[in-house]
Amino acid sequence: MDFKQFITVVPDFPKEGIRFKDITTLMENGEAYKKAIDEMANFAKEKDIDVVVGPEARGFVVGCPISYAMGIGFVPVRKEGKLPREVIGIDYGLEYGKDRLNMHKDSIKPGQKVLIADDLLATGGTIEATINMVEELGGVVAGIVFLIELTYLDGREKLKEYEVYSLMKY
Ligand code: AMP
Repeated sequence: MDFKQFITVVPDFPKEGIRFKDITTLMENGEAYKKAIDEMANFAKEKDIDVVVGPEARGFVVGCPISYAMGIGFVPVRKEGKLPREVIGIDYGLEYGKDRLNMHKDSIKPGQKVLIADDLLATGGTIEATINMVEELGGVVAGIVFLIELTYLDGREKLKEYEVYSLMKY
């Protein structure tokens, strides 16, 4: 399936110079959304994954259905101040901003094999921060999946020790 036909590229959003990849038009199409999730779950199925981890909010849109398809759990990565129990945290940079992410301290058990899922790989800052927290908790990152990779931002360079799969490349 040509998944790119379902992505809407919006110039100058959220600020000038950013070509925003809007995945909501893919999500609105049941067949395309299901096929995209199935392909990502398929990449992970031989890897003996214990749990899927995804950063808010679009990492949930991708990670939750993958975890459902694989019959395993999902662990959220959230912005500071959103998780109700004891957390670990890390600062990170974005293609368009800066922020701090949290995970619940007891959300990953040492030795668990983790699949990290997100909508899009840009600079790789979000995923690098997510990897650092998963590893701090003793998890083993067994794979990383994206709907979209912006190859011109070289985010993959930060992830070269890991197995990375992206459904679409720009
Ligand atoms: P990064 O940490 O730079 O890899 O970017 C992380 C997140 O920012 C992605 O998961 C997207 O949700 C969002 N993002 C960054 N650049 C874009 C873009 N050009 N279009 C859509 N979303 C983007």
